[in-house]
Amino acid sequence: MAEFDFDLFVIGAGSGGVRAARMAAVAGMRVAVAEDRYMGGTCVNVGCVPKKLFVYASSYSEAFEDAAAYGWQNRGADFNWQTLRENNASEVGRLNGIYRNLLANSGVSVVDGRASIEDPHGVVVNGRRYSAERILVATGSWPFIPDFPGREYVMSSNEVFSMEEFPRRILVVGGGYIAVEFAGIFAGLGAETHLSYRRQLFLRGFDRDIRNFVRDEMAKKGAQLHFDHRIAAVEKLGDGSLLVRADDGSTIAVDAVLYATGRVANTSGLGLDKLGVVLHRDGTISVDDNFRTNVRSIYALGDVTGEPQLTPVALAEAMALVKHLQTGNLTEIDYNNIPTAVFCQPNIGTVGLSEEEARDSGIPVVVYKSDFRPMRHTVSGRDERTLMKLVVDSSNDKVVGVHMVGPDAGEIIQGLAVAIKAGATKQVFDQTIGIHPTAAEEFVTMR
Ligand code: FAD
Ligand code: NDP
Repeated sequence: MAEFDFDLFVIGAGSGGVRAARMAAVAGMRVAVAEDRYMGGTCVNVGCVPKKLFVYASSYSEAFEDAAAYGWQNRGADFNWQTLRENNASEVGRLNGIYRNLLANSGVSVVDGRASIEDPHGVVVNGRRYSAERILVATGSWPFIPDFPGREYVMSSNEVFSMEEFPRRILVVGGGYIAVEFAGIFAGLGAETHLSYRRQLFLRGFDRDIRNFVRDEMAKKGAQLHFDHRIAAVEKLGDGSLLVRADDGSTIAVDAVLYATGRVANTSGLGLDKLGVVLHRDGTISVDDNFRTNVRSIYALGDVTGEPQLTPVALAEAMALVKHLQTGNLTEIDYNNIPTAVFCQPNIGTVGLSEEEARDSGIPVVVYKSDFRPMRHTVSGRDERTLMKLVVDSSNDKVVGVHMVGPDAGEIIQGLAVAIKAGATKQVFDQTIGIHPTAAEEFVTMR
């Protein structure tokens, strides 16, 4: 008889957990996965997927307006929040079912309920103990909201997709991915949209030209950007609306406040402290290159181990872990040049170093930029622009950074990330024939 119930017990059926469980089961391991909220985790339920659907929803208002110049008359329509909310919920429900089936079809045992780790080889769910040779913690992250008077009146991205009523006026707090994406969503859907960020300019860490450009484009689309703005308190008024007070004494009246001030490791109640699992100062789990914690039978990956908090990173880590468990070898992940997109409007797509990072690391930098009105808007008349930027190391001609703000930037940058990974030089970009007429061709014609 086997010593343990399972070879691998995965806690959390999110991006990383599902991929690890399925791959391990397909490789012949006896695998269980425990999930206490939703199949597919953050990305499927309250992250990437619903966010992208809401971004699509918000893009229609401009599309209706722009269509008139192309001959489409009287195409305006009213937006219905309930329809969007319900169609999103049913798509998420469909995906939940697909994830459950994928696990079952791979032979993974699914245990519904909140798991805690009792000992290095024991997991407890709903009062029952399961033993496993190895335990994988893939419990993701959770929204962080700081303390302030009136904190109970604000929501996080966990609740935003299922709000009962569409807020006519909304304040989004934060200056990272989620804040910028949701400010774009609500502005596009027609809400009076405010964004509050505590420093001078949002999207810290992105290329400075990109940040300036997004600021200008978002402002043109009607989002009211409040920089150097810190929230002191939120009060609920008699009519149910919210009065937000900043520390400079100014106020903003809204119907809803969305906090997007980062995410922290989701480890509460797991029992890691009891077992002596080492955490970093920010609460993320410390692992070695093989995703192993200091407790030899316990592994961790994905958001719970820290940045970058991105679904493709959790997936890559899951695949590397399973390969390692199969072969005993290290499967290295290259965390350099991870491409990423921010689905604000227009989108940001980026890979590699910002101009500032390249200069700070002593690289002799040459920059190529193109700033133009997208072809669609030459006829629609919309005042929207696209920015493309290449950061080149002049010592060896390598392109070390590619940045874009414009329609479909995420789609365009994915391909260029392959070029950067392959070490493409500016000369290789120049030798590549463009596809005409596209925006993307600018990347191979900048001189
Ligand atoms: P998760 O997907 O969060 O999965 C963890 C799972 O563990 C959850 O289902 C949770 O319920 C479960 N769990 C936790 N504790 C327990 C327990 N004790 N017992 C049982 N189950 C437990 N990334 C992108 O790449 N692109 C995007 O466009 C994007 N958009 C995003 C938009 C939003 C609004 C948010 C919040 C995130 C977004 N992300 C995006 C980030 C992405 O969702 C995460 O990086 C990814 O989901 C991390 O995967 P994970 O497996 O580490 O954790
Ligand atoms: P981010 O870490 O991207 O941004 C957090 C923002 O909140 C920063 O601007 C930060 O300011 C600010 N902040 C932090 N603490 C406070 C505070 N106490 N008071 C006021 N402001 C504060 O987190 P998000 O919540 O936007 O998203 C979480 C992660 O999810 C992202 O980092 C990303 O990895 C992932 N994600 C990816 C997406 C994609 O791929 N398109 C989309 C959405 C999320 P400061 O700059 O000063 O630190």
